[in-house]
Amino acid sequence: MSARLRTLAELAELQAKYNIFTHLKGDVLKGSQRSGPLGGLVCGIKDNIVTKDMPTTCGSEILRDYQSPFDATVVKLLKKNGGAILGKTNLDEFGMGSRGMHSCFGPTYNPLYPETDQVIMGGSSSGSAAAVVADLVDFSLGTDTGGSVRLPAAYGSIYGFKPSYGRISRYGVIAYAQSLDTVGILSKDIGILRKVYNVLNNYDEKDPTSLEEKLRVKIQGYYKEQKLKEKKKYRIGIAREFNQENIPEEIMSALTGFISTLMKQGHEIIPISIPSIKNALPIYYTISPAEAVSNLSRYDGIRYGYRDSESDISDNILFAPTRKNFGKEVRNRILLGNYNLCSDSFKNNYIRAQKLRVQLIDEMDAVFEAPNVLLNNKEKRHSSDNVDLILCLTSMNLPKGLKNFSSAELEIPTNEYINDIFTMPMSLAGLPTLSLPPVKGKPIGVQIIGQYGFDDVVLDFAERVDSIQ
Ligand code: GLN
Repeated sequence: MSARLRTLAELAELQAKYNIFTHLKGDVLKGSQRSGPLGGLVCGIKDNIVTKDMPTTCGSEILRDYQSPFDATVVKLLKKNGGAILGKTNLDEFGMGSRGMHSCFGPTYNPLYPETDQVIMGGSSSGSAAAVVADLVDFSLGTDTGGSVRLPAAYGSIYGFKPSYGRISRYGVIAYAQSLDTVGILSKDIGILRKVYNVLNNYDEKDPTSLEEKLRVKIQGYYKEQKLKEKKKYRIGIAREFNQENIPEEIMSALTGFISTLMKQGHEIIPISIPSIKNALPIYYTISPAEAVSNLSRYDGIRYGYRDSESDISDNILFAPTRKNFGKEVRNRILLGNYNLCSDSFKNNYIRAQKLRVQLIDEMDAVFEAPNVLLNNKEKRHSSDNVDLILCLTSMNLPKGLKNFSSAELEIPTNEYINDIFTMPMSLAGLPTLSLPPVKGKPIGVQIIGQYGFDDVVLDFAERVDSIQ
């Protein structure tokens, strides 16, 4: 399968309808002739990943005219390996959001619903998902801090992969919450997604959080020694803590149908428990805004981006008027993050959240058969309860039309935060996870989660499932 190259007029029409790109390049036809592992493939890049030949806006007024002098490592790798970039894709401002509605360029709409007006795409990698769904590109890069690749992938009935934390370089990816940020890949085709992953899966000395070469070798060693590539039957855990009330029937039946297909294929389904999953949402919304506050402090009107022309640095009034250009949701996060880092709250909330995060990591780690190379705890493996993969839903709801949101849903931020309940635990634990469409063409996602570093196991499994569907 490959995306159809469009004329500029067709591109303009789709752009007007779905608001997919923040910047479109006209000369992609030339680029798609390149050779290399990604030769002939066209892609979109989320507009929080820097590119030297196109602006990088983060969907924010504050960076509306920002032009990076260099390419992010992932962009360099794509270009070097033959990928052609069609444009930069729309997003929730700085990656903050889950509906694709918080960009200064306006919301992105879901091409899965060509006849229905303005159904949300989900975010924050909304444009990256929409470009794939509309067949404008073969794949896109997004970023996933708490679910931003997986949620729009589910709403678009496509694949969305969030690799292990540190697997793919973040150099040149504008930070939201750096202990959670990852670059992810979206595609309709699992084979293409894997090719892109293979190109991007490299140690990068420019990224201090890049997974070290010796650990990559260690993981590969275990993968080979245990012959995981040849594995046919997997042990798949389903955590009881992911059971939620009020999940639409359509989603539940897609999930149960998928599980029964897996059982028919001979995979073993194992009930597991990870009690700390219930803490994931509050942990995430304590830690991520605190990190965001520190990352956003660089937009001060001096070093990057917008500067209020009326204000003067010598009058000491530059900062506030400049920062009024952040959108509403980003300002919410700045308030929340600063609060979380204030004296009492720092002790009572922030430190506590960090401790609870470690507990969640340990609990998630303990369910896997494969060792965690970061924790060096090989000895506790091989219990009969250990699993190869965990399975759960990606989203607890279906995408809605913009008109169908109640004012409470739009005004109270926590109503949006709750969307990420199934995606955050893996982000907090840094685990590789793929959202796949259990029923092609339906806006529903199921996640397949692997042990830290075992991204290949997740992708092997998905390729196998894809070939039986
Ligand atoms: N929806 C989550 C948030 O707003 C996750 C965003 C993301 O993964 N970038 O923070």
